Amino acid sequence: TTYTHNFDTDAFKGTVTINTGLFINGEWVDPVEESTIDVFNPATGQLITTVAAGGPKDIDAAVNAAQKAFKTGWGLNTPGTVRGRLLNKLADLLEQNLETFAALESLDTGKVYNKAKAMDLGLSLSVLRYYAGWADKVQGKTIETTENKLAYTRHEPYGVCGQIIPWNSPMIMLSFKLGPALATGNTIVLKPSELTPLTALKFAELVVEAGFPPGVVNIVNGYGPVAGQAISEHPKITKIAFTGSTLTGRKIMKASAESNLKVVTLELGGKSPTIVFDDADLDQAVKWAAFGIYFNMGQACTAGSRIFVQESIYDKFLEMFTARTQELTERIGDPFASGTEHGPQVSQVQFDRVMAYIESGKSEGAKLHIGGERHGETGYFIKPTVFTECTRDMKIVREEIFGPVCAIMKFKTEEEVIEVANDTTYGLGCNVFSENINRAIRVAHALEAGSAWVNCSQAGDAAVPFGGYKQSGIGRELGEYAIHTCVHTTPVLIGG
Ligand code: NAD
Repeated sequence: TTYTHNFDTDAFKGTVTINTGLFINGEWVDPVEESTIDVFNPATGQLITTVAAGGPKDIDAAVNAAQKAFKTGWGLNTPGTVRGRLLNKLADLLEQNLETFAALESLDTGKVYNKAKAMDLGLSLSVLRYYAGWADKVQGKTIETTENKLAYTRHEPYGVCGQIIPWNSPMIMLSFKLGPALATGNTIVLKPSELTPLTALKFAELVVEAGFPPGVVNIVNGYGPVAGQAISEHPKITKIAFTGSTLTGRKIMKASAESNLKVVTLELGGKSPTIVFDDADLDQAVKWAAFGIYFNMGQACTAGSRIFVQESIYDKFLEMFTARTQELTERIGDPFASGTEHGPQVSQVQFDRVMAYIESGKSEGAKLHIGGERHGETGYFIKPTVFTECTRDMKIVREEIFGPVCAIMKFKTEEEVIEVANDTTYGLGCNVFSENINRAIRVAHALEAGSAWVNCSQAGDAAVPFGGYKQSGIGRELGEYAIHTCVHTTPVLIGG
């Protein structure tokens, strides 16, 4: 079954057809037990289409196909140069279809089209190319042992990898997962989020066109507690890579532990601090702090949702940050319209969740400074929202909201702000603004976070590792580090 969408917008005109089935063993199939997912347009709340939802039997078929591909046509039997060529071909095809993917991504997630094109698709593309380059450069070491034996190490792929991704940036997440796993010779069963299944379906077509052997990449849409759970429990999957909420991460780890002790890497939630010292370049700090929280409508795991401002510049910062928030509020709207800077939240559920946090902020005594309400009559739009007079025990300061809502707080000293910024169960990102490079580096090092940004925010690069401290995750994606999350390191010791 296929679905054709006719885009007739300011930003993109064209017709895009996707296959709505399950992509298993290089073919489109229907689920064994009939089940579907309704896909909604977050900007209008209307149904776009319905796609197939896989269950445990479909996951099992995908795993068997992936295992067969691993043992026959891929894995150790395909040289790195060949894998690299295929990954580059995949990247070429994505580049040729960049606007189509950006349009589908924007339709499905509510992302502003131009930003989806420049940022999401731009990063996905560079990640695929980066790992194409790694495919023939994964090399072991030679080690001389104390007993004069020779040892060398090999990096062997795990085999069938399960990959479960979220809805906030589907194409970015897909590329982070597929890139290193394919470069190192693994085969894959990937499950997109049930909220945003469309771009992964289109991507499956590129996998065929690029010439990957059947079964190397399987893309099975489905519900988390059904298809996601089946991946977590499957005894033939040896590695699982997950991005999503901390709560789901726990479930996946538990299911992995109880089935066959899979290797698990997790990229989870966050409550990242943004710290602005009185010697910061205020224009830059305001620009980046606003980007840090409002980027992707606050639906970023690294969102800088707690903003700490040194007291002598607090009033000035708040005035400038409010002006930037107001500017963005005036540019809320249709993700495809020119001039739009801020789109909707992804779903009704997320809309309700964010609005409930706004209510909790008010009832716990924080001051609603600007925003705090829906925009328009239809779609899931929420105005960028600032709370002031917050204390660290409030829910809006402790819990991940995953919406365009921030808490701005005052601090006096460096010691004090480090202590309060670290007072969280999360540890994904942190942002430090100061023109004093010694201070900026000192504070960046003192913060318990997997990524630190100094005088910028949210910058990401295929070559730079990404991951979390504490309950924000286990393992690293991107860069050379991700390669090592996809392989066994196996020594061979030679006697005689
Ligand atoms: P989620 O945990 O609800 O869902 C993520 C994925 O897990 C989806 O594909 C879902 O179907 C699947 N899933 C749900 N229940 C499952 C189960 N029991 N077993 C297996 N799979 C299951 O998260 P979400 O709402 O899609 O995404 C938002 C969360 O993701 C936020 O907490 C955010 O911080 C986090 N996130 C983290 C990063 C990162 O890199 N650290 C990046 C993006 C998003």
